[in-house]
Amino acid sequence: MSAPVAGKPAPAPPEPEVLSVQPLGDGLSDADLAFVRNAIRSFYGLDVDLGTPRPLPAAAYYEPRHRYRAERLIEHLAPDPRGARRFVLGLTASDISTTTRSAPDWGVIGLAQLDGSAGVVSTFRCGARVSEDGRRVRLAKVAVHEVGHILGLEHCATAGCLMHDAEGRIATVDAGHDLCPACRAHFGTTRILPAQDVLPWPRPASIVASRPSVGSAVAMMPTKRSLATSAAVSR
Ligand SMILES: [Zn+2]
Ligand SMILES: [Zn+2]
Repeated sequence: MSAPVAGKPAPAPPEPEVLSVQPLGDGLSDADLAFVRNAIRSFYGLDVDLGTPRPLPAAAYYEPRHRYRAERLIEHLAPDPRGARRFVLGLTASDISTTTRSAPDWGVIGLAQLDGSAGVVSTFRCGARVSEDGRRVRLAKVAVHEVGHILGLEHCATAGCLMHDAEGRIATVDAGHDLCPACRAHFGTTRILPAQDVLPWPRPASIVASRPSVGSAVAMMPTKRSLATSAAVSR
């Protein structure tokens, strides 16, 4: 046993991990922002702050379809990698799109870096035939999914898991409820997840069975800093 070294400073406590929810452009309600913020906090235990709204960057605009390229938004949002570890999730009411294996410009609800620092989620495709509350829950579930990608979670085959790949079906988003035990176990002891006795949404009436991914136009490359799409809705 060695004697304590006089005068040696105690190691600094690790910096808390912070995720910023960053509104981009107009059309988001305070209720949307608050609900998404609460959902991310309750799943991952991150400190979640709310950024001052910023305009959508013109450089991300895709003129032929009058929408914004999600990966350009992510580049725009990504924090300086030299700083303390921070995460950013952009939120927008505008339509966003990305390139998939079969489509050069495919409308999506969300896109995020896998094991990276930034993602983006849009309300634009959350609203079909659903109440205001239902639309907000869809948005927050996709936000939890995209933050899962940022924290290193890949797609999961378990029906009802929030990391299940929606593959273009909003019904899959609706059926998502919680992170499954395997996805929770991914974090091991590196991240203490909050207790899950209170989820921010009700359990769906029925968990839809997963279908084979024939014809899926959603791509995900399991490499660092690749982009993971989710809940792509064809258009
Ligand atoms: Zn899972
Ligand atoms: Zn995904």
